[in-house]
Amino acid sequence: MTVEAHKETLGFQTEVKQLLHLMIHSMYSNKEIFLRELISNASDASDKLRFEAIAKPELLENQPDLRIRISADEQAKTLTIEDNGIGMSREEVIENLGTIAKSGTAAFMQQLSGDQKKDASLIGQFGVGFYSAFIVADKVEVFTRRAGLDAAEGVRWESAGEGDFSIETIEMPERGSRIVLHLKAAESEFADGWRLRNVVKKYSDHISLPIELPKQHMGEEEKPAEAEWETVNRASALWTRPRSEVSDEEYQEFYKHVAHDFDNPLSWSHNKVEGKLEYTSLLYVPGRAPFDLYQREAPRGLKLYVQRVFIMDDAEQFLPLYLRFVKGVVDSNDLSLNVSREILQKDPAIDSMKSALTKRVLDMLEKLVKKGPEQYSKFWKNFGSVLKEGPAEDFANREKVAGLLRFASTQQNDDSEVVSLDAYIERMKEGQDKIYYLTGERYNQVKNSPHLEIFRKKGIEVLLLTDRIDEWLMSHLTEYSGKQFVDIARGDLDLGSLEGEEDKQAQEEAAKAKADLVQRIKDVLAESVEDVKVSHRLTDSPAVLVIVEDGMGMQMRKILEATGQQAPESKPIMEINPSHPLLEKLDAEQNETRFADLTHILFDQAALAAGESLQDPGSYVRRLNALLVELSK
Ligand code: ADP
Repeated sequence: MTVEAHKETLGFQTEVKQLLHLMIHSMYSNKEIFLRELISNASDASDKLRFEAIAKPELLENQPDLRIRISADEQAKTLTIEDNGIGMSREEVIENLGTIAKSGTAAFMQQLSGDQKKDASLIGQFGVGFYSAFIVADKVEVFTRRAGLDAAEGVRWESAGEGDFSIETIEMPERGSRIVLHLKAAESEFADGWRLRNVVKKYSDHISLPIELPKQHMGEEEKPAEAEWETVNRASALWTRPRSEVSDEEYQEFYKHVAHDFDNPLSWSHNKVEGKLEYTSLLYVPGRAPFDLYQREAPRGLKLYVQRVFIMDDAEQFLPLYLRFVKGVVDSNDLSLNVSREILQKDPAIDSMKSALTKRVLDMLEKLVKKGPEQYSKFWKNFGSVLKEGPAEDFANREKVAGLLRFASTQQNDDSEVVSLDAYIERMKEGQDKIYYLTGERYNQVKNSPHLEIFRKKGIEVLLLTDRIDEWLMSHLTEYSGKQFVDIARGDLDLGSLEGEEDKQAQEEAAKAKADLVQRIKDVLAESVEDVKVSHRLTDSPAVLVIVEDGMGMQMRKILEATGQQAPESKPIMEINPSHPLLEKLDAEQNETRFADLTHILFDQAALAAGESLQDPGSYVRRLNALLVELSK
């Protein structure tokens, strides 16, 4: 086959086209980040080569020293970033530079609105990587050859960042990748030696391999025939340096590199552990959630190094699933260089590292709390519902995780304000020894629930839980700080010493006095309820539905039904408020048909107030209308 026969023009995947178009416009205000992205890719490519060369040293060919070279040609208005890392084969070029192989990309793209400001922040969350070259270039060429392949198997890729790209096979004596940006006329500043040097320095100090620029020859007209290079960064792994010698900016830049994020992290924790196990970890809490936080197949985990040699991305064995938002690096001195995912899974040393790293993250979050509500609420908005998976997954740290949870509460004006369990406990009424909560689908529904009436009357705070997973969370969280959790919509409500002896006596008397009424209602609703009782939960509403002690709540039912399963049948208990005028009227009603109609209405309304949909809405409407007609006579 001739080289020419290998040239072809291919179209970008639809998502790439959309991304390119949006990115060029929306990232413009932050255009120099393209350099960070390309340096980051070159550094990753070198890491990968170093790793593969552990098993196959011949991949290093005659060039074992890895480095990145960046140069500009002011006349031609080009900028070149060159690495001698792993390189790419023809298939890899098509796969990596023509498509986006992240799960959920199509769904993500649909969220883009066309509003540049909004989209710019969304795109940052997605991470645009290589394509950011098109912010400043109107043509990009990639010359690359994968380590280990024949010199004749080089590839040249070229695109103007519009609909398509061309690809051809070329002769490439040196392995690695060379990216040539043909700068847009307005971006020629990046071809200026001094300007380039400044930007490169900014984005390279945290990179562990040398980044070289052509030596500047001050005042000389003639440059030497062979370019002389000088290293402009520290070229040492950032996490190996003592904390006191790393600036916040460096930590932040390093984060952007490891996390492929455009924004600064919220917080980080850098630690060196010595002793039986020796390792260094640098863990970050991102400033915002990635677009695929809830995608099952989304990559997660830390970058694993062994004695500074990159081993793998996304090593998920070092942190539990509920901390999957954490990014960073772990560098072990004890693991073997040829460690694999399988080995990591079985190694007991990894378990003890996992529990130590888990604790580090939880400590870091506790520190964030101390920094002030604003910082922590940023975290909570982004990752709160992931953290809620903690108590179920991590029994040992249940209490610690619970201390970091936040909930809406009857003490707050709306659901944008959340409270901690510690704050709740601090505000508890005298004699209160339980933490009360109510779950439901929507904040407005629980906020106005009849279940809250007695609590409002007595001024007792109730947590309002409306996240999809809250009911499930609470099934794994029975107590905090020695205080039991109580679902106020479930079983017999025991307010303990919050209710005086007189209250209790009055209840008992009311129950006795209304035994007949209760029995009549029970007869009518036999098919729909487990039981009917006189309530002490209510002050204003006529009736309320209570879940039986071991019954399944509505959120869990919905989750089950959404996954196509049948939720087990469980009938509620209806509690009535005998001092409500409607019940007084009902009690006096002699006509059994009217008694039954009114009872059904009462039950259906209690179901509606609980946010449930009626079994037979038609009959409810018919009965209610009949009543309204009678009223208006
Ligand atoms: P990301 O780096 O987030 O995966 P990019 O769009 O930046 O996304 O790059 C896509 C892929 O292209 C990379 O994952 C890598 O496999 C490949 N790639 C990019 N630059 C290089 C390079 N300099 N050398 C080798 N492979 C590269």
